[in-house]
Amino acid sequence: MDFEQLSTVRPETTGESPEDVLHRVFGYESFRLLQGDIIREVVAGGDALVLMPTGGGKSLCYQVPALVRTGTAVVISPLIALMQDQVAALKELGVKAAFLNSTMDVDQAMDTENALMTGELDLLYCAPERLIQPRTLNLLKEASLSLFAIDEAHCVSQWGHDFRSDYLELTRLATEFPGIPRIALTATADERTRKEIAERLSLTRARHFVSSFDRPNIQYRIAAKTNANRQLLDFISAEHSGDCGIVYCLSRNKVDATAKLLQKQGYAALPYHAGLDARTRASHQERFLREDGIIIVATIAFGMGIDKPDVRFVAHMDLPKSLEAYYQETGRAGRDGKPSTAWMVYGLQDVIKLRQMLEASQGNDQFKRVERQKLDAMLGLCEVTQCRRQVLLRYFGDTLDTPCGNCDTCLNPPETWDGKVAVQKALSCVFRTGQRFGVTYLIDVLRGSENERIIQSGHQAVSTYGIGQELSANEWKSVFRQLVANGYLRADPDGFGALQLTEECRPLLKGEVDIELRKDPVQKPGKTRASGGSSSRNRKYVDEVEDKEAWEALRACRKALAEEKGVPPYVIFHDATLFEILEKQPATLADMADITGVGAAKLEKYGAQFLSALKPFLRTR
Ligand code: ADP
Ligand code: ZN
Repeated sequence: MDFEQLSTVRPETTGESPEDVLHRVFGYESFRLLQGDIIREVVAGGDALVLMPTGGGKSLCYQVPALVRTGTAVVISPLIALMQDQVAALKELGVKAAFLNSTMDVDQAMDTENALMTGELDLLYCAPERLIQPRTLNLLKEASLSLFAIDEAHCVSQWGHDFRSDYLELTRLATEFPGIPRIALTATADERTRKEIAERLSLTRARHFVSSFDRPNIQYRIAAKTNANRQLLDFISAEHSGDCGIVYCLSRNKVDATAKLLQKQGYAALPYHAGLDARTRASHQERFLREDGIIIVATIAFGMGIDKPDVRFVAHMDLPKSLEAYYQETGRAGRDGKPSTAWMVYGLQDVIKLRQMLEASQGNDQFKRVERQKLDAMLGLCEVTQCRRQVLLRYFGDTLDTPCGNCDTCLNPPETWDGKVAVQKALSCVFRTGQRFGVTYLIDVLRGSENERIIQSGHQAVSTYGIGQELSANEWKSVFRQLVANGYLRADPDGFGALQLTEECRPLLKGEVDIELRKDPVQKPGKTRASGGSSSRNRKYVDEVEDKEAWEALRACRKALAEEKGVPPYVIFHDATLFEILEKQPATLADMADITGVGAAKLEKYGAQFLSALKPFLRTR
C-alpha cells in the first residue's frame, strides 16, 4: 500500500460505508431522518446525545458505527432481557455480538472476555453494574474499542422514573477512555432530563440530536366510558382480532377479571401483575414475545424493556397518571412503524379516583402540586376538542403545525355546546345540597327524582330540585366529569366521592363567564370505532393480504425457524418483511435480496426456505 492510499483510509474504520452496512447487514433501504447524521458523527469519532421516540430506530445509531469502526463497541443497557434479545437478533444478522451480565456463569463470562480480548467481537452488551467493576474496566482498557453506547441514558436522572445509581458511575468513561467516542440514547423527552444526562455523563462536547416525538402510525383514541368491558370487546373484535396487544388496568383484580373476560371470548389473553409469582410472569411474558396474537392484560408493571415490534394496539381501561406515562405506555404499540391503535376509555369515576389517590398519597405539598399538574394535563388531553396529537406533542415541547388526521378528534370532530346554564345549575346544586354528595345523587336532585334518600334529606325543597330535566343522566355525568377534569369541582379526598366547589368555579357559578363543553360522541352498540376515513388508514395490513394461505405458509415457515433457533419469530423476520415477500413475490434469491429486512446473512440462512414456502402460491407474472 503506498502512502497516498494510506492517508485516505482512516485507520479506525473498516472502509465500508454506513450505507453499505445498512444494506448488507440489515437489509434496509435508507436511513431514517437523523440516523444518517448521528452515524456520521459517531463514525468520525464525535460524541452524540440522541433523543428519539420509542420505535424511532435508536439501535442502528450505534450498531452501524460499531460495524464501520474497527474494534469492539460496548453497549451499556440496564435491561438484561432486552440485552439478550438484541444480541440474539444481531447474531441472526451475522454480527459478532455477546453480552456480559449477572445471569451468566463464570465459564460463559470467560469465553466472552476472551472473545473481547482477541478482537472477535463487534458489539459487547454490558449491564452497568458489571461494567464499573474494576476487573471489567481493566479488561476494556486492554481491548481495542470502537465506541461506547449508553442506552436508556435517562437512567442517570435522579428525578426520573428509572433512576439507576450505577449509571452515575458512567461519568468515568469520559476520563478513563478519553479517545473513545460516546453516544447516549433515550426516549425521555424533556429538556431538563436532557441537560442532566449531558452533565452527569460528562458529554460536554456531544452534539445533540433531537428528533420529533410524533409517532404518526399510532392512532390516538379516547372515548367516554359507558360499559368499559363491552367497549373493549367491540374495539378488539372490530379492529384487532388476532392481533397482538396490551391492555392496561390500574388494579390486579381488574387485570385478572379483564383477562378472563377476553379468554371467554376466545382470545389468547394472559394476565401480568406483581401479584403473580415470578415463574408465571416470566412465562406469560415469554409467550407474549414468542407467540402470535397474544394479548397481555397488565398493570403498569408490564412493558419496561419490551421490544416487540408488532404490538398492534395498547388499550387503557383506566386513566394513566400523567401524559408522560400515557405517551410511554401507548408508545409500546407499533414500533415497526405499521398502523397501530392507542385506545382508552375513561369516565368520571376514574377522575375522582385518581384525584383522591393523589390527595391521600404521602409526599409534601410541592410533590403533590407537581403531580396535580401532571394529572390536569392528562385530563386536558381527554377533554380536548382539537387534535389530540397536537396537544400531546405540545406538552413535550414539540409542535405539529396542522391537525394530524389520525386521532379520534380529527377523524370524528366532537361537537361542543354552550354549557353556561347547565354548569351554573350543576355547581349551584352542589352548593345547595351542602357539598356532601356524589354525582349520582346530584343528578337525581337536578332531574327531580323522587327517591327515598332525597325525600328523607328534604332536598326536594332546595331551589335546584328538578331544574335539570332538559339533560339526560348521562349528559349530566358528562357535565360533572368535565367540571372535575377542569378543576371546577373536586372530590372530597376522605369521603365517598362527594363533590365540592373549588375557588376556580366562582365566576362560573355566578354566570360571569361562558363555558363550552364537549359533547360525548354517541356510541351505537357495537360501534366504538372512529368513523370517517380511519378504516383505510388504520386497516391492519394483514387484512390487505389477499392470499391468506400464502400468508399463513410464510408465518408457519418463520415459526418453525424461530422454534428451531429458540428466538422470537420477529427476530427471524418482522411482519413487514413477510408482507413485502407476499407483495413482491420473489422467485429467486436475487429477488429476495431486494426485500426490506433481508440482509446478506439472513438471505443465506433463510432465503431458500421462504422461497419454497412461497412457491406453491406464486402468482404467474
Ligand atoms: P428504538 O430503540 O428507538 O425504540 P429500534 O432501534 O428498536 O427503536 O427500531 C425500531 C424498528 O425500526 C426496528 O424494528 C428496526 O429494525 C426498524 N428500523 C430502524 N431503522 C430503520 C431503517 N433505517 N429502515 C428500516 N427499518 C428501520
Ligand atoms: Zn389529530
